[in-house]
Amino acid sequence: MVSASLQDWRTIHYDAQIVDLHAHPSLKISLFNRILTSRFHASRSFDPFSVRTDYNRLKEGGVDVLLSTAYAPEKGILQECQYIKALRYLMPRKWQKIYGRSPFDVTVEMLDIMEESVANSIDVKTGKPMAHMALSVTELNDLLARQKDHPIAVVHNIEGAHSLDGKIDNLELFFQRGVAYLTLAHFYENDAVHPCFPYPESVQRAGCFQGIRNLAHGLKSFGENIIEKMLDLGMIIDITHCTPIARHRIFDMVGNRAPLLASHVGTYEVNPSPYNLRDDEIKKIADSGGAIAIIFMNYWLMPHETRRGLDFISRTIEHVVNVGGIDHVAIGSDFDGFTDPPDDLKDASQLPRLTQRLISDGYRVDDIRKVLGANALRVLRDGWRKK
Ligand SMILES: [Zn+2]
Repeated sequence: MVSASLQDWRTIHYDAQIVDLHAHPSLKISLFNRILTSRFHASRSFDPFSVRTDYNRLKEGGVDVLLSTAYAPEKGILQECQYIKALRYLMPRKWQKIYGRSPFDVTVEMLDIMEESVANSIDVKTGKPMAHMALSVTELNDLLARQKDHPIAVVHNIEGAHSLDGKIDNLELFFQRGVAYLTLAHFYENDAVHPCFPYPESVQRAGCFQGIRNLAHGLKSFGENIIEKMLDLGMIIDITHCTPIARHRIFDMVGNRAPLLASHVGTYEVNPSPYNLRDDEIKKIADSGGAIAIIFMNYWLMPHETRRGLDFISRTIEHVVNVGGIDHVAIGSDFDGFTDPPDDLKDASQLPRLTQRLISDGYRVDDIRKVLGANALRVLRDGWRKK
C-alpha cells in the first residue's frame, strides 16, 4: 500500500474521483436567479445569498459528481418564521411559485431548473459544457469513463418525503426521472416520518423556527410503504433528518437488502445531537454496504461553535472509520442549503484542503480515494438500479 506525502496532494486529489453526495445549488438558482457558470464569492459562515457550488468552484475543487438536491420549502416554515412570511409581500411572484403549489409540483420544477442550468453550462472560454446530467447509473459510468476533464456529472436527489404529496406513485415518477435517492425526513413531520430537531439555536434565537420536535415518534405506515417501494425500484434510502426511532425501524426493515445512506451527518461521539449517528447506527449502515457522508456544517460537526471545521471533519471521519470501517465514509457537504460551513472549508473549491488534511492524518492513498468518492460511487452503483 502506498502511503501519501503532503507534496503529492495535487496528484492524489485531482486523480481521485470526487463525489459530493448532498448540495443545494438549485435553491440558489430558484430563489436568487443565480447562474452557475458565474464564479461567486462565498463568504464565511452563514450567508443565505452565497453560492458555494457553482460550476467553476466545483471544477476547481476537482468534483466529478454532484448529487444535486431538490427541495420544496415546507409549509411549516411559514408558521414558524415571520421573516419568511414577509416574502409574500416582498417577492409575491416567487412566493406564489413556492407556496401556491403542491410540494410535488415545486419539486418537479426544482428538477427542471437544475437540468436547464446543466444544459446551459457552456464554458465561454472552451465552448464545452461544464456539467452534464447523469440520469442513470449507465450515464454516470459513461461520463466518468471519459478523460479527467469530463463535465461534472450532476445526479438528482430529493430532500423530504413531503415532495410525494402523499402518493406512492410519485416515487416511481421521480425514480424514472433519474432521482437516485430520497431523504425521507426534513424539517417538519410529513406523511412518512418524524424529523429530528432541525434548527440551530442561533437561528431559533433570531425568532424563527422554534424547532420543537418529538423524538418519541418514528416511521409511519406510509413511510414503511415508501421504504418497500424504494427497495423494489432500486432507489437509495437516505435516513438523514429522521428521528433515531425512525432510523432504527428503517435499519430493521432494510437489513442488508440495500446499501443505506446518511447523506449529510456528523457523529454522536464527536457532537452528541440526536441528528448525528451513534456507533450502532454507523455499524448498521456499514453492514448494509452503505455510506455515512460527513456534512460540512459547523453546527452538526462540533459541540461548541469554533470556526475550525476541518479539525472536526477529520475527527468525525476518523470515528466513522474506527467504528464502521474505511469503506463506509463519504462526503455530503450540504453547501448552498442555508448552512454555516467551516471557515477553512467554505466552498467546493476548497476541497483540496480535505485531501491535504487526510494526508497529514496519515491515511493511505487508496483510503483517501475511498473517502473522497470511491465509497459514494460504490453505493450509487449498488443501490441505484436505474440502468
Ligand atoms: Zn438536510
